[in-house]
Amino acid sequence: MKRRNKTTGNSSTQLTLPLFDCNPHKTSNEATGKSSDNSTQSTEGNLCTKDCPIDVSRSEALLCEAAGRSLEIIYTNNRSRIISCRKGKDGFFSVRISRIMKTAPAEVWRELGLWIKNSRKNKILCEGTHSGLFIRQAQIQEQLAETKPRQIRPLKGLGRCFNLTEIFDRLNALHFDGLCDAKVGWSRKPVFRARHSIRLGSYHDEGNYILINPVLDWERVPLQIVEGTLIHEMTHWKLRHTLSSGKRRQLHTGEFRELMRRWSGYEECEYWVKSNTSMLIRRRNFLSKNRRR
Ligand SMILES: [Zn+2]
Repeated sequence: MKRRNKTTGNSSTQLTLPLFDCNPHKTSNEATGKSSDNSTQSTEGNLCTKDCPIDVSRSEALLCEAAGRSLEIIYTNNRSRIISCRKGKDGFFSVRISRIMKTAPAEVWRELGLWIKNSRKNKILCEGTHSGLFIRQAQIQEQLAETKPRQIRPLKGLGRCFNLTEIFDRLNALHFDGLCDAKVGWSRKPVFRARHSIRLGSYHDEGNYILINPVLDWERVPLQIVEGTLIHEMTHWKLRHTLSSGKRRQLHTGEFRELMRRWSGYEECEYWVKSNTSMLIRRRNFLSKNRRR
């Protein structure tokens, strides 16, 4: 049997029920008149904070009734280890249940109670049980909720030296027939990838936006470098739409370089960036140290 673990990082999907004597007995809670046989002591603890529209106390009563004993119920954020049950030092039964079970229908709570009562291991997740089906669906929903695209903050194009929005609009009309619908802005903090290299911009196809490293918003950086960086990222935007679905995106392909060379300032821009990388890295480090927290 595993030792009690206050944290909920256990990734086991096994449903464990310790093999020990199952005599329900009075607890210190009874001194306050709270608990007795077939009653529950539900602990939200440090883990579950969401209110649930389902009548949880009724579900907990069903669980205790089916288990045939009093239970201390603790909700956890653990989505793999759905339920575990152990006998505390005081002999009281403690059941830890994933909060994803809070919305489970009555028959699921009854099954869980019977599982506790009968000390059956690993039966509750079987195909065909209400619990098995509910748990699987709840886990899938949780995963889907996690993979929703993050909402990005409004992008700020107006910098100290350059207005990205203005430059973007001009380049869009000039080189992309005004078709580029990506949003553009300065990234909030200097992009820090590696000690000896620097990323000046990035295109994010998930949210369709371009971020430019704020190291370029500086008097010592020529306008042409900001333009070149924007064109580079806008070209990534353009090629995104030419890829057939299911194909892994490849950056800086021959086609990409060919499109970039059509811009007359390409060679000069490349040369300037190569020659001034050290200066830009120093600027990045300075901004990183001095940015407001
Ligand atoms: Zn690139």
